[in-house]
Amino acid sequence: MVFRSRLVALLAAAPLVVAACSSGAAQQTATTTSSGQPAVTGAASPSAASPSVPPSLTPTTEKSASPSASATVDPDAKVIYLTFDDGPWVPYTQQILDVLAKNDATATFFVVGEMVQQHPDLIRKIHEAGHAIGNHTWDHANLTEVSEEQVRWELRKTARAVGPTMAACMRPPYGATNETVRRITRQEGYRTILWTHWAVDWEQPAIPEFLGYLEDATQDKANILLHDGGGDRPNTVEAVRIMLPRWIKKGYSFQAVPQCLTPHRG
Ligand SMILES: [Zn+2]
Repeated sequence: MVFRSRLVALLAAAPLVVAACSSGAAQQTATTTSSGQPAVTGAASPSAASPSVPPSLTPTTEKSASPSASATVDPDAKVIYLTFDDGPWVPYTQQILDVLAKNDATATFFVVGEMVQQHPDLIRKIHEAGHAIGNHTWDHANLTEVSEEQVRWELRKTARAVGPTMAACMRPPYGATNETVRRITRQEGYRTILWTHWAVDWEQPAIPEFLGYLEDATQDKANILLHDGGGDRPNTVEAVRIMLPRWIKKGYSFQAVPQCLTPHRG
């Protein structure tokens, strides 16, 4: 598989480039943004002011006891943006979809075009389950190392493979970007989305360690980088399966990255 062998070659040639989706520069971004710096991530803009609950003159009347009314306005609601890169991939994408469905969780999948071409059925399932689909290039290219023409080709070919369900968001492989790549990305109709946290899941850490990373990533509007493709990902599936109920108990819900809710106008 071209994409996989390239990744292996890259990792072998550059041991400091540690992640399928990371680079030294991206690592810096990830650590700085996790300390609160706004960035090109899934951090949502502040939501519109929640309508305040009118003070009740008769606080104990039976008619005012409508839990469903107040349940729709929860100023304390916390959200986590789970993002899965490098798929679709057999069998992990389907396993992730099953775990998400069981926990009523929505996520974002940054897909690789040549994998989309191999598994159009999985793209359809991702979309039908309500998740967002972002562009992650055709063959996981480092966009800072190819021509401008190639960057456009990577994005356009992937968009054609995905079709109308492609969202207007792109995550550059390895987090590798620069002014030129960002400009072309904008011109091609995408927002650049990186992440605020990761779980080093390209190394598939043991489950206790993996859960520790996810615990550390637990905060409102965290955008967590994970992988459903690019290699063997059983521990990603297992860690997310364990962690989702824990997060739910802490009051978190799971949504697509807000910038990925807009369809790409290809
Ligand atoms: Zn990637």
